[in-house]
Formats: sequence, structure tokens, C-alpha cells
Amino acid sequence: MPEEPTTETPAPAAHAPHGHVPLREAVDALPPYVPGARAGAGERVWKLSSNENPYPPLPSVLEAIAAAATETNRYPDMYASELVEALAEHAGVSREQVVVGNGSVAVLAHILQTVVDAGDEVVFPWRSFEAYPIAVAVAGGTAVTVPVDAAGRLDLPAMAAAVTPRTRVVLVCTPNNPTGPVVHRDELEDLVAAVPSDVLVVVDEAYLEFVRDPQAPDGVEVMNRHENVVLLRTLSKAYGLAGLRVGYAVGSPRLVAGIRAVSTPFGVSHVAQRAAIASLQPAAQAELLERVDALVAERTRVVEGLAAQGWELPETQANFVWFPFGEATSARAAEASAAGLLVRPFAGDGIRVSIGEREANDLLLEVARRWRTA
Ligand SMILES: *Cc1c(COP(=O)(O)O)cnc(C)c1O
Repeated sequence: MPEEPTTETPAPAAHAPHGHVPLREAVDALPPYVPGARAGAGERVWKLSSNENPYPPLPSVLEAIAAAATETNRYPDMYASELVEALAEHAGVSREQVVVGNGSVAVLAHILQTVVDAGDEVVFPWRSFEAYPIAVAVAGGTAVTVPVDAAGRLDLPAMAAAVTPRTRVVLVCTPNNPTGPVVHRDELEDLVAAVPSDVLVVVDEAYLEFVRDPQAPDGVEVMNRHENVVLLRTLSKAYGLAGLRVGYAVGSPRLVAGIRAVSTPFGVSHVAQRAAIASLQPAAQAELLERVDALVAERTRVVEGLAAQGWELPETQANFVWFPFGEATSARAAEASAAGLLVRPFAGDGIRVSIGEREANDLLLEVARRWRTA
């Protein structure tokens, strides 16, 4: 007679008759995403707290938005085919290599859901984009953070060394939000060479269009040579569509198909799709990139002004500057906001200030001069 199986499935936990729905432990422990401060009603302040584009939408984009608004009783194009086509052409890749989402933060979540199983490790720099620890925890992954160096640069050799057999993803933020520096071509090459080819390297290029450092890598070129490299991009910053939420990933067709499969159906609204397509039209794009040039010129003016005041800050290639104030962060942020400048403090670490309108940047220089003597 075969013996009765002795392994019993564990009894399900008893339901508490009047208990609350338990939240997942990972969710309970999530750090909050702190949005940049907003102006109160009637307050006259400059908002340099969210790395937004200070320019309003182009007339041609507003027109596309208005036209799309009349059609919002219909579902959007599920796969955003026309937008994907436009982005693929823009990036110089095929349609099968592009997937869009409700902001690149959503695309990142979809990427992690595509490759991360419970307990898998995700290596990322810190301090870096505050959405990373949240996205990793929600995906059920385990965060492995590697400190940026004293100059606010990613330590890619240390990140490569942090890869273990449990690692599934390495996140590379370049330029790094909030510190500003880019990784260099050779550093990225060395990282990709050092990690196993079954570990996904996500290169977050949210500020790509602001980069002027000739040593910065060409992400598409690297991605084309390495199936385990995927690029994360957005229309929120250079293209000024933060309020409409359009982000995308560029990667291998196999990975992209996987990301599509987990993506929220109809994740990019019809209005957002039409606005993004209008922004990618050659004339609109040229005008938008001229605005980026003007912001980069303002960045140069701010960086030179700060250097003249004696500041030695990380070398920014993005639309923001970083002041590593450490313990003085909250006090300095309060001084800025009293002067009418909304900045983004990271308590105990530093303050990020976006490059904005000329007058706002002038005010930053004035506040920074006062910070020097504080
Ligand atoms: C702003 C930003 C994004 C873009 O987020 P969206 O969801 O596309 O608005 C992505 N990564 C980094 C590092 C950012 O700073």
C-alpha cells in the first residue's frame, strides 16, 4: 500500500472577523514619493522644484490637444501605433523596439514587472531618482543601492561589483537625478561588459536632450550591440509634456514585446498621444530643441555664476543643479522659499534646483549668494 502523503499544505491564516485588509509588507514600507513644492493660490513664487520645462506648449501642440479633446469618448489607440512609429523614427530604431507608457515612471514599473521575480535584486545608484526604490519594492524586488561618489557621479565599477547571482536589473541614471553628472561612454561599456548578459541594464535618459558632454554614450548605439540594454526616455522634460504623461523604452524586440504584455491597457491617453505626435513633427521638434538650447545656455550662465560665487558643485548635464548641503538642507530650502523660490530639498542630503525662466535663475543666483554667507 502506498503511504498516505505526509506533507500537508499549511492551513490558510485565519481571517480576523473585524480586521483590516492587510497591505503587502513591501507596500507598507514604501517611502513616499515627494513631489516638488507647488505655489499656493495667489502666491508669487518661482517653481524650480520639479525639473519641469518652463515653456508653455507650442501652438501646434495646443491645437492637437484641442482636436483630440473632442474625441475623448473613444478609447485611445491601444498600442499607440502612430506615436510608436514616430518615436521609432526619432530614435532611429524599428517599431518593434519601442514601447510607450503613462510617463517613463510607468514604463520603468512595466520593465521591472517583466523581469523581476520576488526577491530578485535590482542594483541602482543612491542618491538617485526617488521613484527607483518605490518601483523596485512594488515589483517585489530587493533594492541594492550603491552610493554615488563625492562629485555626485555614478560609481559604475562598484555597481558592477554589486551584481550577485540574484541580480536581474541594474539601473543607470544618466544624467543622474538629482546630482546632475552623466556617465561616460567607456564607463557604460565597462559596466555592460562586466555584468552577465542575462542581467538587464536600464539606462534612464530622462534628460538626454540637455546633455552636451561629448563623452556621453550614444544609448541607441550601445543598445543595438547589447540585447540586455534598454533605454528609458520621456517627453516630460525637454519636450515639455510633463502634465500629459508620455514615456517610452527603446530595447530589443523580445524585451519590448514582454513589456507590452504587462503594460496597462490604453495606458497613454488619446490626448497625450496626439500631443506627443505633434511635438515630434519636424517643425515643432526644431522649435522645442531650440528651447532646450536656450535652457542649456541658461544652465551655463547659472553654473558660471555659481562658480564665480565660489561654489564647487557636481557637473550638471541636466536641467537642474545640485547643492549637497547635508544637514543644512532643510534650513537652506526654507530660506529659498522665503525668497520666493521653490526648490526640491532631500532632507539631510541636498537641494536640487531646476533651471527655469531667466528671472527665476537670477533669483537662484541671488539666493545662492546669500546661502554662501549663511
Ligand atoms: C523626470 C524623470 C523621469 C521622467 O518621468 P516621467 O514619468 O516620464 O514624467 C524619469 N527618470 C528620471 C531620472 C527623471 O528625473
